[in-house]
Amino acid sequence: MMEIKCSFCGKKEVITKVHKDYRKLARGKNVVYTCETCRARLHFQAVRSQQPQKPI
Ligand SMILES: [Zn+2]
Repeated sequence: MMEIKCSFCGKKEVITKVHKDYRKLARGKNVVYTCETCRARLHFQAVRSQQPQKPI
């Protein structure tokens, strides 16, 4: 188990070996980690920015 801090909001989370990024995070300290909340928000923003702006 390892405590990790979200790079965006600073929220601390504990991840276990089952986490897909566990090995990556355990190896390098400069790996950017985003919590569930920020990941969802970033995904939402990415989806929105991909959509072309339609003229009203
Ligand atoms: Zn976060």
